[in-house]
Amino acid sequence: MNKRYGGIRMDSLLIKGKTVLEILASAGHDAYFVGGCVRDRILALPIQDVDIATSARPEEVMQIFPKTVPTGLQHGTVLVIVDHTPYEVTTFRAEGEYDDYRRPSEVTFIQTIEADLSRRDFTMNAMAMDQHFRLIDPFDGKGALREKVIRTVGEPVDRFREDPLRIIRALRFSAQLHFTLDDDTLQAVQASKAWIAHLSIERIAVEWSKWLTFADHHALDILQRSGVADELPLFAPMARVLPSFVQTKGVWTRMEERWAFLAILAKMDKEAIQSFLRRWKQSRALQNGVLSRIDAYHDAVKAGFTIGFLYQNDLTISQFAWEVCRHLQHAVPAWRDIEALYENMPIHHRKELAISGKDVLAWSRRPAGPWVENVLRRAEEAVLHGTVENSYIALQEWYDEHD
Ligand code: ATP
Ligand code: MG
Repeated sequence: MNKRYGGIRMDSLLIKGKTVLEILASAGHDAYFVGGCVRDRILALPIQDVDIATSARPEEVMQIFPKTVPTGLQHGTVLVIVDHTPYEVTTFRAEGEYDDYRRPSEVTFIQTIEADLSRRDFTMNAMAMDQHFRLIDPFDGKGALREKVIRTVGEPVDRFREDPLRIIRALRFSAQLHFTLDDDTLQAVQASKAWIAHLSIERIAVEWSKWLTFADHHALDILQRSGVADELPLFAPMARVLPSFVQTKGVWTRMEERWAFLAILAKMDKEAIQSFLRRWKQSRALQNGVLSRIDAYHDAVKAGFTIGFLYQNDLTISQFAWEVCRHLQHAVPAWRDIEALYENMPIHHRKELAISGKDVLAWSRRPAGPWVENVLRRAEEAVLHGTVENSYIALQEWYDEHD
């Protein structure tokens, strides 16, 4: 995926993105790579997505490219799709007056990339690169990357007052990049953290989920010095167990697992975790995923990794319960033995059962009712434990004998 460009390994996303810059330039506009992709390229990290800033107005961008989606016109953003790859193209803008710690309701389009960079949060995020991959770096973002520090563009207290989300973003980036906070920026975080109360929970949740994804001891140390955990709604019980939580960095692959493990460590009951997730406006699917994992852990502690447990929880959730048991020093079988047990089960889901409710109804000639579900459940049990073979004939015989 990587090509060499001027002696430097270049991410294929940037190589393709160069054409977007060239097309904008040939239509007479200025255009640059900006933000995270510039930072990550200098750090030689893989690039997730490419943001482009341009002097072209959104309507012009939509005229120039055949495939566009107006994803954020009110912020001047158009999604441009080139060769199946999406690029966020945003018109150079200033973020007018901030009102009551809220993001500005309207944006002002401006002429120069430098002015656009000056509204950005941190010096390392306020760099741009032109189509020849030349760096525009008015705030010495490169120096900050070299020092591994997070430093606001301009006076940190002012920038945090404008948008307190930057306080949480500073911590998120400290976790993601293993950077520290510049002294002034850290002091401003400590002084400004109460403004977090003005943010919508959705914006907090996006950044905080990333912090939880990347956090290690170093990130926790910065968090503790910042005092920010106290400002996160309903987070206090989880904040207390973060030292144990960060020991599992890299173990969890999904947010459901992180929230569930935190709730288990914090000994939150079902109601507490449910109100927490609702308050944090997490989706119903995520809420269910967290709750089923917590239940699975408690079941595993009570009854172990039995066939019944594996059937009920499937392999992914069982593995979560197993990992938690291990971290909490419960005795557990080797994971490969559990896997082997699972592989050897005669069925893994209801749909693998050789009969359905229809068959049971046909055999009984009784009207349908909750009893059918009961029969199916007993059939599953019998097949799972090897009492009956999983075939239509065997199950019909079993039914005739047991009904
Ligand atoms: P990553 O994509 O790796 O999470 P990123 O730097 O691209 O990092 P985004 O949240 O995607 O982060 O934001 C893109 C860019 O927009 C940032 O690099 C920064 O320049 C700017 N930005 C984002 N949020 C803010 C904010 N709250 N205040 C000021 N500038 C911001
Ligand atoms: Mg980004």
